[in-house]
Amino acid sequence: MMRVALVSMPWLDDHVPSAALAALKAWVAARVPGCAVAVWPEHVAVARRLGRTAYRAIHDDPLAGEALYAGLVYPECRGGLPGLLRAAFAADAAKAMMPPPPDADPAGILDAIDAHAAELAGRLAAAADVVGLSATFHQLFANVLLGRRIKAANPGVFIVWGGSLLRGAAGPSFMREYPELGAVVQGEGERPLEVLLGRLAAGQAPPDDVPGLLTRGNVDRFPAGVPVWEADDVAALPPPDFDDYAAAADPLSVEWRIWLQSARGCWWDRSGSTGDAKRRCLFCNMSERRRYQAKPARQVAAEVEALVARHANPRVVLGDLCMRPTGLAELGRRLAAPGRQLQLQIELRAGARPRDVLALWEAGLTVAHTGVEGFSTAYLRRMNKGTTTIQNLELLKTCAELEIGNPFGLVMGFPGSTAAEVAESVATIDRYASAYPPPGFLHEYDLTTGSAVDVLRADFGVEDVRNHPRYAEFLPAEVRARLVLPHRAWTYTPAGRPADWTPVREACRRWRETHEEIRAAALSEGRTPTQALVYLDGGDFLEITDHRGVSRRFTLSGVWRDVYRECLATRAFADLAARFADAADAARLREILDRLVAEQVMYAEEGRYLSLAVASRPDLAARRLKGKGKKRTVNGEQ
Ligand code: SF4
Repeated sequence: MMRVALVSMPWLDDHVPSAALAALKAWVAARVPGCAVAVWPEHVAVARRLGRTAYRAIHDDPLAGEALYAGLVYPECRGGLPGLLRAAFAADAAKAMMPPPPDADPAGILDAIDAHAAELAGRLAAAADVVGLSATFHQLFANVLLGRRIKAANPGVFIVWGGSLLRGAAGPSFMREYPELGAVVQGEGERPLEVLLGRLAAGQAPPDDVPGLLTRGNVDRFPAGVPVWEADDVAALPPPDFDDYAAAADPLSVEWRIWLQSARGCWWDRSGSTGDAKRRCLFCNMSERRRYQAKPARQVAAEVEALVARHANPRVVLGDLCMRPTGLAELGRRLAAPGRQLQLQIELRAGARPRDVLALWEAGLTVAHTGVEGFSTAYLRRMNKGTTTIQNLELLKTCAELEIGNPFGLVMGFPGSTAAEVAESVATIDRYASAYPPPGFLHEYDLTTGSAVDVLRADFGVEDVRNHPRYAEFLPAEVRARLVLPHRAWTYTPAGRPADWTPVREACRRWRETHEEIRAAALSEGRTPTQALVYLDGGDFLEITDHRGVSRRFTLSGVWRDVYRECLATRAFADLAARFADAADAARLREILDRLVAEQVMYAEEGRYLSLAVASRPDLAARRLKGKGKKRTVNGEQ
């Protein structure tokens, strides 16, 4: 029996299993005879050794974790470690609004990860014939160190890597640099790994002609990487196997989350199927798949139910790159089970219908990760996001009124972005978006390998793309010159240089402060913090309270109330004109809408209108979204 160990090293979040390794374990167990396969969730063990705070700070930083393990591979380059760790810990403290901690001790952390890697390498050298290492979450140099030590202890162990950090030319560059590496899987792992393990189990050499598999025999033929080999039928994949992770996490009382993919690929990303690199969000490189495929809702619900029961764990993440465009309500209905309370996290995209979000909320949706990215439709179009500002605001509103956590992000400084787009973003934030909780993340634009900007650099005014100079803080110059690393630096041509996004950062700071003040004021008075912009429907009048800045309260009655209520879901002017024809002519209706927009309680875009205030309680919002609110009347004036 060939023993296969699939290892996740730091810096994957210790509260989640590696979804990729759990899926691969299930596949190998089902498809490759003569293999005993296990997942080794070593990120949990290291998080335990370092403590939650230190692990989280390093995990959140794109370079600190790589630098630590690189410091063990290249001890002569450890000089930059104190500065890197100081920055990581300061950033983590800032997120929690705490003062920066005293300088972290690189020696203590290095000793801890060194001891863990040495002990782990010894165990794997004795217990495994094949070691698969996942490289997705700043794990490159942890893998280099571990692979080297395993080979030193037992040269007969075959080492294979896989993961998104190895896409394109990165995979060949690591193969050439590190002779311990026997093979690299690029793209989805199931099919290439199945063939590789089958060959190894039969005592044969790795195959050189399998899509998705770089080997010593073919690496020189594929300097830019091999074509990938994706699973034909996502619905036919076995459910992921989290048993090994649970066995590590449960005794430590880790509140972990079952991580299930209900689909593979991204339906918005058609770059693979069309060959046009611009047929997706232009900053994105997340999907390596040509075809989007989703499992039927019934199957997803059955897998969730089985995994929740198996692990007695109600915390579930549907970790799709982009949630399915249709069938969300059915998915919500099937996930909802009487007597069971899930804590569900889902990726949502602007444009999702509020009623669909409601169905997911009824199934237990507590956190939505929404791809907002911007508050200027011109800017969103520049990035080919496929969404608009009014859709973003409607999704933020639905999440706010159902009290669904929504740590969304904004992308700052996409190539070519203009001062007008910056100004529009600031205005939307200050006047409208500030009605809802502020963003969790502000992302400075990052050129990712394989994204449209990377592939079509000249079109975006980008040139001289190279490894980021910060790798000089912990890697030897000759190694940096040979490796293709995930963090890139680049130069803008005059056409590509983005406008100054400082005003948007400032607007987001004001936004955060506004919500902190609302929260602090409520807590100081012993009240539960309220929403920033909220309505109470009195039946024949509607009261709106705006807590942004100096609190103000005003009452809408008659047709004003009815128009505002009607626009609690986005409405086109033509539909409103037809609906209110008896109560207000088009000019009067426009006057009402313009006034509500000027008061910053309604948003208008390209002839569509959205009332921004949220219901005062989630159950009232749910009733309204289901259409069970009071019957509307059209009468009178304000
Ligand atoms: S950002 Fe999201 S929606 Fe856009 S292409 Fe990437 S995965 Fe798809």
